[in-house]
Amino acid sequence: MQVKKKIKAPSTKSKGQTKAKAPVAKKPLELDWSVFPPGMVNEYSTRLCLACIFKIFTVQLGLAPRTAYSEIRRHAPTIEELTAPVAARPYFDSDEKSPHCPYCDAAGRWHARLDTYRIEGSKATDAPRRALLKSLPKSEEQFQLIEAKSDRRTLFFEWLDMLRRQLDLDGDEWMLAVTRAYLERREPKTNWAEVFEGVRAVRRSHRLEEGFERDGARLFLAPALYNDALLVQYLVSRSHRHGGRTLEGRLTLMELVRRLRYSGHLDAQGITERDQFDVLEKMVEHLTGGESAVKLHYIIDRRDFLEKVRTVYARYAA
Ligand SMILES: [Zn+2]
Repeated sequence: MQVKKKIKAPSTKSKGQTKAKAPVAKKPLELDWSVFPPGMVNEYSTRLCLACIFKIFTVQLGLAPRTAYSEIRRHAPTIEELTAPVAARPYFDSDEKSPHCPYCDAAGRWHARLDTYRIEGSKATDAPRRALLKSLPKSEEQFQLIEAKSDRRTLFFEWLDMLRRQLDLDGDEWMLAVTRAYLERREPKTNWAEVFEGVRAVRRSHRLEEGFERDGARLFLAPALYNDALLVQYLVSRSHRHGGRTLEGRLTLMELVRRLRYSGHLDAQGITERDQFDVLEKMVEHLTGGESAVKLHYIIDRRDFLEKVRTVYARYAA
C-alpha cells in the first residue's frame, strides 16, 4: 500500500466523477418486474466483500493489483453462492444500513451488491422475459444470464419456504395471504389483488363448480380450489408448533385427509390410497405438477459489482 503504483484504472469516468458519487451507486436502470405474474420471479440479494477478495488475490496468491483487478472482474459467482440462504465468505448478508464486512470489518465502500433474479419458465413468463432481456444493456457483461433446470415439485416447496419466511405464522392474517399467494401462482391471469380487495374471510362455495365469487367481505371458492388452498395452508404451517393450521382450524394430517375424502376431493383426483402419507404424497403431486421439468432463467445484475471493483482498484492502484 505504501508503494504508489501508476496503473491506470480502466475506467471510462474521470476521477472527479467517481469521487462525486454517493457511496451507494445509483442504478441507471431499474428492472421492471410489474409485468410478470406474481410469484414467478424470486429475488436474491447478497453482498460481496472486495477487500476480502483483493486480499486473497494480492496477498495470498501474490498477484499484482492490475492482474487481481481483471481476475476479479471476470469472477462469475455460482447460483449457489448468490442464492444461498446463509452466505459464505467472501459473500455476506446483512439487514443493517451500513454494515461492515463480518470477515475483515471493511466498510461499505468495499462491498459490492449482487442482485439475482430467478424467473420460472412458463407460458405466462416467456413474453415478458424476452422483452426484459432485450431491454438489458449488453456491454461489459453488466448482466449475466444463467439457465438451469428444476421440477415443479421442488419449485413449489421452495416457494412455500419463501412464504413461510415472509409470514407471521403466530397471527391469523397469514391464512388469507397464503390463499391469495397460492391462487396467484395457480391462476396468474386473474387479478387477485383486485379480487381480494376488502376480503375478510374465504369460504367453501356450495354453489360454484369452478372459480370464485365475492359476497361482501367474503370470498367463495369452488370446492376444488378451496380444498387445494387448505392443503397449501396445511403445508405452510405443519412444521409450526402442533400440526397444520387452516381456514378450518388446526388439523392433523389424518383430519385433513378425512375432510378431503368426505368432500369428494380425493375421488375427483383419482386418489384411492388409504394410508394418510400416501394420500398426502399423491395430493402434493397433483397440487405441484410433480416431477415435470421447469426451466429457470437467472439474471444476475453485476452493475454495482463492476462499479465497485473499479473504484476499489483505483484506491489500490493510487
Ligand atoms: Zn471483508
